[in-house]
Amino acid sequence: MPCLAPFKAPHIVTKVQAEAIVLDKVAYSEKDLVVTFLTSEHGVIPAIARGARGSKRRFSWLDLFVKLSVIFVPKTPPKLWVVQEASVAEVYSDIFENLERLEAGQAIVALLKDALKDAPVMAELYQKVVGVLKGLSSAPAERAYMAVLDTLRIILDALGHGSVCEHCQRDIVVLNLGAFLLPSFNFICSECGTKGDGVFMEPAQMKALFLQEDIGKQATLALVSKVWHLFSQKTPLL
Ligand SMILES: [Zn+2]
Repeated sequence: MPCLAPFKAPHIVTKVQAEAIVLDKVAYSEKDLVVTFLTSEHGVIPAIARGARGSKRRFSWLDLFVKLSVIFVPKTPPKLWVVQEASVAEVYSDIFENLERLEAGQAIVALLKDALKDAPVMAELYQKVVGVLKGLSSAPAERAYMAVLDTLRIILDALGHGSVCEHCQRDIVVLNLGAFLLPSFNFICSECGTKGDGVFMEPAQMKALFLQEDIGKQATLALVSKVWHLFSQKTPLL
């Protein structure tokens, strides 16, 4: 008779607590919201907030630009995690105070949501992103867009994507070339790529991104708006 392994009760996690920021929220039903969080310990988590559309009070802090402490009830995919409780840890609502900050803030969450949806958990990235939002909440209007470049750089670093051409493997910044930023957040140099491959970045814009050289407001704005258009269509904000 085969020896039976001793019965072991499965380890059931009923609740997890995590620090988080909201990247996106969409209506799920008449009463519920699906909120996409960037969390410190669990990466990007879409979770359902039941009743959040009906009762503003219970989930009043489920908004952009707020550092939250969230209690989740984890579920096995494809079921969504459930938000049980969300309380505020720190508010960066000064981002709403001027249009430049707000546009930069929206571009930042759109970039993060797109870039990190399948990425592994990165606690360090979370802390850096919170730092960027905090800085943005007091940034002068004409410097607000730099926060988007900072975020893009944080994402590229976290994904391990340097300034190397995906095709010829040469360093685009060292060669002082332009490049196409692909939706995969990789680059193709201007000699290997063609129009339509992605967002074209001038050599100066590549240097601004990787060497943090100041290229002036207009060039920065142009870059941010190109990157923003590449990703923003996919991320409706409520
Ligand atoms: Zn190349």
